Amino acid sequence: MTMTPQPSGAIPDRSIYERRESGVRSYARSMPRQFGKAAGVWMHDNRGGRYLDFLSGCSTLNYGHNHPILKQALLDYIGGDGIAHGLDLHTDAKAAFLETYEALILKPRGLDYRAMFTGPTGTNAVEAAIKLARKVTGREMVVAFTNGFHGMTLGALACTGNAAKRGGAGVPLSHVSHEPYDGYHGPEVDTADLLAQRLADPSSGLDAPAAILVETVQGEGGLNTASPEWLRRIAALAKAHGALLIVDDIQAGCGRTGSFFSFEGMGFTPDIVTQAKSLSGMGLPFALTLFRPEFDQWSPGEHNGTFRGNNHAFVTATAALRHFWSDGAFTADIARRGDLLAARLDAMAAEHGFETRGRGMMRGINVGSGELADAVTAACFDAGLIIETSGAHGEVIKILAPLIIDDALLAGGLDILETSLREAMADDFAVAAE
Ligand SMILES: *Cc1c(COP(=O)(O)O)cnc(C)c1O
Repeated sequence: MTMTPQPSGAIPDRSIYERRESGVRSYARSMPRQFGKAAGVWMHDNRGGRYLDFLSGCSTLNYGHNHPILKQALLDYIGGDGIAHGLDLHTDAKAAFLETYEALILKPRGLDYRAMFTGPTGTNAVEAAIKLARKVTGREMVVAFTNGFHGMTLGALACTGNAAKRGGAGVPLSHVSHEPYDGYHGPEVDTADLLAQRLADPSSGLDAPAAILVETVQGEGGLNTASPEWLRRIAALAKAHGALLIVDDIQAGCGRTGSFFSFEGMGFTPDIVTQAKSLSGMGLPFALTLFRPEFDQWSPGEHNGTFRGNNHAFVTATAALRHFWSDGAFTADIARRGDLLAARLDAMAAEHGFETRGRGMMRGINVGSGELADAVTAACFDAGLIIETSGAHGEVIKILAPLIIDDALLAGGLDILETSLREAMADDFAVAAE
């Protein structure tokens, strides 16, 4: 299927990036185009090429690019000289966000959290979460899990599993124990039992933890999913051992797995929750750490930051909450599309003997090798589909389509993936060599 015009204009000079941009750039290497505009599920490059976005800024654009309602709210706010930056001052935009969040998110779910606006990136929300847990408990150790990803600053990086990312730290990453995630040792071994044993055994070498930090679906770590039973066990262990349970919902939240929080309906309540990525709804930087009121033991300014509470993001986040989360329609839509996605991926996996991963609209297919996954995603990109990989070896092709995508375009993108995968398998990865 060709659903998308391919770039045709002259290749513009992009030497500025080689000359001046740091070698740390990454996505730009696998997608060597210059993008100018984006709307809904489409991104456009500067040569007339159009790309269906199955990456969505790693789940930052769950509502698509430049959603018209969010965009209009922001335009109105800026047009009316609304406060753009106000440190952590009270603003109309902040009040509207907090009131909407309370009314549409917290109250209907029976959740009682205080909201802390951290610096606007996810890693900052995680730093605040683990700092708070350490302060509240007076303990140092954090239990995190194999394949977990929590961000790039030192505290969050210490909780991250990936060796290449950890290697960038330049100092020892300490005070974190990486315990096996659900399913890490295969279906026969209940890794919650292993953690229970280590926590109960005074000679296990595991110091009493301040927190247990977990993703319900591991976004960067390969779309491993934790079962509700396992998560309930982990929550109970945290409680029994005086540790705070932190759910890092930065990638899995905001509807990606189906509900606003990825842990809804599972029968446990985290002590602390982190949010970022799709929270602003428009790709504006915005992060939030939520915690039970009794843990709000910060002194004023103890975790500080110039950009705490991005007022433009308050505006778009409030518009997103009102538009998508005031009733159950969006959740029902996500469930339907998630089922379509699962059925198509299961069929592809069955054709080639692979396995699928994930939940809701956060799913992928484990093709067993990073080399093959890269060949497939490169072929997808050539056919006009933006799609990425995840997992310890980049072996899981990850589908993070905008949640608002219509069924026909979802199917169209999956057609490209199916064809690219079939061709890569048939050509014995010849696609990669081209
Ligand atoms: C992306 C991500 C982070 C880090 O967020 P940044 O905004 O990149 O700092 C933390 N945790 C999870 C689960 C993420 O997916």
